Amino acid sequence: MEVGALRRIAFIGIGNMGWPMAARLVEAGFQVVACDVAPERATRFANEIGGEAAGDAAAAVRGADAVITILPTSKHVGRAIEAMGDALAPGALLIEMSSGVPTATRGFSEALAARGVAMIDAPVSGGVPRARTGELAIMLGGDAAAVQRAEPVLRAMGTTLTHVGGIGAGQAMKALNNLMGAAGFLIGVEALLIGQRFGLDPAQMVDVLNASTGMNNSTQKKFKQFVLSRRFDAGFGLELMAKDVSVALEVAHDTGTPVPFAALCREMWASAVNLLGPGMDHTAMAQFSERLAGEALGGGNRAS
Ligand code: NAD
Repeated sequence: MEVGALRRIAFIGIGNMGWPMAARLVEAGFQVVACDVAPERATRFANEIGGEAAGDAAAAVRGADAVITILPTSKHVGRAIEAMGDALAPGALLIEMSSGVPTATRGFSEALAARGVAMIDAPVSGGVPRARTGELAIMLGGDAAAVQRAEPVLRAMGTTLTHVGGIGAGQAMKALNNLMGAAGFLIGVEALLIGQRFGLDPAQMVDVLNASTGMNNSTQKKFKQFVLSRRFDAGFGLELMAKDVSVALEVAHDTGTPVPFAALCREMWASAVNLLGPGMDHTAMAQFSERLAGEALGGGNRAS
């Protein structure tokens, strides 16, 4: 199939999102070179899905037309760029798909431009399910020509591509999207807890909300599936959501925007990371509100 000028793609970060996204690229006919700091993930990807595995970032990017990064934070991206070193050759395009910090991304972009490497930011929304089906929403920041160059690659992973501004603008948009998701989740859990205390059935409440104006992404896709079921395994980490809300607050600070409601939301998510411990799914945030209420949702059991 015709895949445009970018054929060989170094894919850095074979995590919850990176794995299904890289799999879409393999399926679309791109030559994918997988790489992860946990090298066994890249090897397993090459064995199970296809493409090649590289032992380190320098080996992955050598000879690549484009490099995709989808790593936890901008700090990880900085480390990965450092590890690529001179193997990242002039003329290559770096597509940074992490939910990163816009100012950090601008800094990377300037340093890379001086070496003849173009960069765009292209963070995603839709989670693991839409990464699997190639139906992600992709928010693009950067120079129009570079964005256009990346499009054939991005079309294999997403259905809604929106160029929202210069470098870092995609990540600002993504952080604000997740601020709304984080706030909607929290207020929804609180509403369910109040309702349960009143005598309403939380599962029935979710049905009513989904037919009413209180509906949001959490009522539709999270509360029954991951909270009331007590599964807490949506595939998006609690630390990552807390990080996204912090990035939104950084953007608020940089732009001098007073946002007391968002600040409270950030404090709650950041507190939950400490209270609930590492490695939790973001839907486990419900347990934070449950602990405050002294009661769990669903069966009326006391929260652990
Ligand atoms: P994850 O923790 O599952 O995966 C990250 C991967 O990066 C891991 O496999 C880790 O070993 C690897 N890694 C870390 N540092 C590295 C380095 N220097 N070089 C190579 N590999 C490195 O995280 P995820 O859920 O896939 O999220 C990745 C990014 O996508 C985050 O910025 C997150 O906020 C964003 N995001 C996640 C979701 C989701 O639903 N999971 C949805 C939208 C956006």
